[in-house]
Amino acid sequence: MLNRRTFLKNGAATFPLAAALKAVQPARSAEIFDDAAGAGVIPKLVPLPPRLTPFDSAALPWQQKVHRVGQSNMTEHDPAVMNVEEWADYWRSARADVLFISVTGILAFYPSKVPFHRPGKFLNGRDFFGECVAAAKKRGMRCVARMSPDLNWPDALEAHPEWAMRHPDGSPQFSGEDPRLFRTCMFSTYMDDYVPAIIREVNSLYDVDCFYTNGWPPLGSLPNCHCAICSKLPPSNTPAYWGAFNDRLLQLWQKYDAIAKEKKPDSFFFANLGGNVHAGPNLDRLGKTAAWFQGDNQGRTSDDPAIWGCALQGRVCHAVMDGKFATNITAAYSTGSVRWRNLSKNPAEANMWMNETLASGLALYYHFIGSEAGLGEDRRWQKVGADYFQWASKHDAHLKPRRSLANIGVVIGQSTQLLYPGPAVAHSHEYMRETTHGLYEALLAGRFAFDFVHEDRLEPERISKYRALLLPNIAMLSDRKCDQIRAYVRSGGSLMASFETSLYDENLNLRADFGLADLLGISKAGEVVGTNGNAYYGRIERSHPILAGFSNTNWLPGSQNRVPLKPVPDPVLTVVPGFVQYPPELAYPSVPRTNEPAVVLREAGSSRIAYFPGDIERTFWLTGHGDLLRLLHNTIGWITRDERIVHVEGDGFLEIFAWETTPGYAVHLLNYTNPNSHHGWLRSVYPVTTQNVSMRLPDTVKVTAVELLRAGRSLPFQLDAGVLRFAVPRVEDYDVAAITVS
Ligand SMILES: [Zn+2]
Repeated sequence: MLNRRTFLKNGAATFPLAAALKAVQPARSAEIFDDAAGAGVIPKLVPLPPRLTPFDSAALPWQQKVHRVGQSNMTEHDPAVMNVEEWADYWRSARADVLFISVTGILAFYPSKVPFHRPGKFLNGRDFFGECVAAAKKRGMRCVARMSPDLNWPDALEAHPEWAMRHPDGSPQFSGEDPRLFRTCMFSTYMDDYVPAIIREVNSLYDVDCFYTNGWPPLGSLPNCHCAICSKLPPSNTPAYWGAFNDRLLQLWQKYDAIAKEKKPDSFFFANLGGNVHAGPNLDRLGKTAAWFQGDNQGRTSDDPAIWGCALQGRVCHAVMDGKFATNITAAYSTGSVRWRNLSKNPAEANMWMNETLASGLALYYHFIGSEAGLGEDRRWQKVGADYFQWASKHDAHLKPRRSLANIGVVIGQSTQLLYPGPAVAHSHEYMRETTHGLYEALLAGRFAFDFVHEDRLEPERISKYRALLLPNIAMLSDRKCDQIRAYVRSGGSLMASFETSLYDENLNLRADFGLADLLGISKAGEVVGTNGNAYYGRIERSHPILAGFSNTNWLPGSQNRVPLKPVPDPVLTVVPGFVQYPPELAYPSVPRTNEPAVVLREAGSSRIAYFPGDIERTFWLTGHGDLLRLLHNTIGWITRDERIVHVEGDGFLEIFAWETTPGYAVHLLNYTNPNSHHGWLRSVYPVTTQNVSMRLPDTVKVTAVELLRAGRSLPFQLDAGVLRFAVPRVEDYDVAAITVS
């Protein structure tokens, strides 16, 4: 077994791990591929770490004590129609801690003296913003001053042509919906002068608690501007541009933050974020700067049609905020490709988005747009939000996580998500999105407890808690990151990687061979092979635990695309190359057997490594093929040695979160067993029955109560030899098993 001492003795340059890793020996007879073998694997419960020491929550910054955020997003017409007292009463009754109130930058909700900050046309000299701030403060709620720096009007464009984003032909870029509004460039003095002038003016006039910009930075994409300044920058959507974008973003963020603090030291600036794993700003840098992560991921879209979109965003926040304040917005209005901004969405869908917010460790945030007729022509959203907020307010202690208990880390390749175009045979902006969703669904279906890990946060102190890291086609990896992953494996961690992982450096330059070739035990034998007709197969060559449950077949599905590899000793699966799918007369393999590996497995000490040369996660997402799911589950089980920190057994498609909390622990069960989980929206709830939960607590911990927070009842439990067991008899759309310990 390789240990740290032998590694150091042998020297890093020769990298002895490659030699130490050996091909995995057959586990059992090649004839055994019975279905029963894959079922009923008994996970090994690993003990939870010693509990964190108590801390004084009173010493936290004010925003970290916020549990519920409310926003009636204000329209230009609202000063003429919105009932300010009713608005403030509603949010107070819902137990909101803080409200967003519009200052804006496109039009002013107060009598602004900043040039080009034109008053809204229904303002009529009134200080609508000031009235709202006063009404909120009178009821004990804090106020966020909300600005929109992304658009402005023709008079501003005429006076400041340099403020506009430009097309390659030099013409200004305009709003796609209201062509009077031009799009402002974040590199221009609009952001240096105009936005700070508004922050200073608001700070001088009102008692607000912090400042926020909507509409900037962009979500999930990068700007593409050809103004005089941007023309001197590297082309958009390149690694070099991303660097310049992040530098400018952080410069502005810190500048606005300093201006916000000029009046009150506990004030701050924050901005529109979201886009989950393919966010625009570098999330590692941003996480170190931001006091508030504002996940603007308000509902399902045609791009992200799966129900877990909010929970996915929550995992991203958790990966980069180190426990600082984070929230994701639930739109009470109708989101999606066809929108109704002033109309309520299905309550079941809005509720699930709030369930996911809490389950993933975020603070609740509920949002509607426009207050026609007092507080909205459609008022159905109000009871949905108020009921939810009021319930949650009874359980703040149990709903606030201190740390995740997950034992699997999924690496977020943010640069790959943003900048990698997919393999040449399948260029697609959706490529990595589909990859992420494929792995995400597989992890949910296997009820694994996992965290996201940002690619810039692979230091041992952050990742040593994970039994395994998963690298779903993390194509772009710097030499340094490759070294960090090697060190992780050397210290006993396991890996599952796929497809073009490490085939590119951080600048998207193609390497001659994989950056992790030595670690993964692979070598590239040719360019990526796509599918034209019938995709390739993986021929079963010998028995192995990752093939448990497969019987009565000699081959399994491969993936849509693969990197051809040089042969490895004693392969478990080999590639049967793709062939014609139509006409059926030609739908047979012209080459029925090769020595090209379709999976490569290695083992050294407690580390296990699995590499799939195909884009298996994405292919699972595109096809839903159960063989691919089983293969992924078996492989994750093998590399983690079936170790679990919490085991939840029962029927249904659930997402699970397990947190350590101040009172004890919280196991969140999100029930996605619903015909509308992959295509919105939820219309009804389809309850699941008994879920048996088990977890191994630290030796000294005693359990005093297990309570279901949604159902509002106590549960009987057993604590035998450190293993806590209880049964959740029924889960509607969501429940939280809150465990109180002493
Ligand atoms: Zn520009």
